[in-house]
Amino acid sequence: MAAHKVVCWECGAEVDDPFVNTCPKCGGLLTVKMDLSKVAEMKPEDLRKTPLGVWRYAPFLPVDLAHRVSIQEGGTPLYHVNDLGTAVGVKGSFVKFEGLNPTGSFKDRGMTVGVSRAKELGAKIVGCASTGNTSASLAAYSSKAGIKCAVFLPSGHVAMGKLAQALFFGAKVLSIDGNFDDALALARKMADERKLYLLNSINPYRPEGQKSVLFEIMDQLSYTVPDRIILPVGNAANIWAVYKACQELKEVGWIDKIPMLTGIQAEGAAPVAHAFAQHRIDFDPVPDPETIATAIRIGNPVSGKKALHAIYDTHGYAATVTDAEIIAAQQLLGRKEGLCVEPASAASVAGLKKLRADGIIDRDEKVVCICTGNGLKDPDTIIANSAKPIPCKNSVEDVERILAMD
Ligand SMILES: *Cc1c(COP(=O)(O)O)cnc(C)c1O
Ligand SMILES: [Zn+2]
Repeated sequence: MAAHKVVCWECGAEVDDPFVNTCPKCGGLLTVKMDLSKVAEMKPEDLRKTPLGVWRYAPFLPVDLAHRVSIQEGGTPLYHVNDLGTAVGVKGSFVKFEGLNPTGSFKDRGMTVGVSRAKELGAKIVGCASTGNTSASLAAYSSKAGIKCAVFLPSGHVAMGKLAQALFFGAKVLSIDGNFDDALALARKMADERKLYLLNSINPYRPEGQKSVLFEIMDQLSYTVPDRIILPVGNAANIWAVYKACQELKEVGWIDKIPMLTGIQAEGAAPVAHAFAQHRIDFDPVPDPETIATAIRIGNPVSGKKALHAIYDTHGYAATVTDAEIIAAQQLLGRKEGLCVEPASAASVAGLKKLRADGIIDRDEKVVCICTGNGLKDPDTIIANSAKPIPCKNSVEDVERILAMD
């Protein structure tokens, strides 16, 4: 573990109380400041004795290995998606498939660090509000750690696979009468009253773990920096984590340029993309967010301001895609590449396609799309957009008849 401190991202004040989630002085978002002076003496190869995964990058993480709670997260494949790249007109297209994490989304990267931190602090109850994947992940990691877990879900809007996971791992699943933003407000209230340790991404230790997706991408590309990284933006912590990881790699001298960070939101839940379109550094919340991509169905993103900073500072971009474009991209990943990702994840590829068509992305760019979660999380969406099973008699002739059809 490297030395570190928690500071206010807005006013810079140092924050010592590990149970507050915003700056006691100004109410700003918190962030972890790492002391990377030891890492600056190392080379990327020095980390390669440890398998690819979150904990390969322990020198960049703010928790002690003695408290580590791990289910071997990270180490996901980076595919050079040639056929998809040809279809969208960007040959150098890559997909980092986060659906192959232990609970099927990138949230495991943040949770392994966040729950390790909870254990370090001796927390008795951990909790989070969630559109689904955060709760699935926290439920698994708190099981592994032996800590009680409560998850706050917006009633009726959680994909079936995610709900199943939270229940399966034995979390107290609270179905809140409201949307994600309402569920988060309640979970934050509980945390402010010190009744639980909050593991939403407003907790600055979560993005620390999520930095590892960027570290892995660089490792997998042998530290040749891609021109652009595209990812879906919901509560906006992941794009911030990727940005922070870029900054830290630059600080230690392992990379010399930073990719253009490009955030994609669903049209019905796009406060960050709207703010970008107006060149603003802050956003207006969207009161009734709506999209088929439930993981990014968020109207008031906690880290929205950080996301905008990340985008402007890297000369990146933000754009919206429609639900129809999301489903088309999900199908393209399946048909061309044999990959099954959940709708929110397909938003990154939908964004690649749209921004290429609009001329924002050049055909010669090297672009990594982060596909954040597994398609099996949301089987209803897949079944609704696929062909139906075909009734077939128990005979060779009938099978042949059906195979001959188009
Ligand atoms: C959480 C999540 C997102 C959004 O990430 P943020 O950090 O909230 O922007 C996107 N896709 C999937 C699958 C997720 O679970
Ligand atoms: Zn402050």
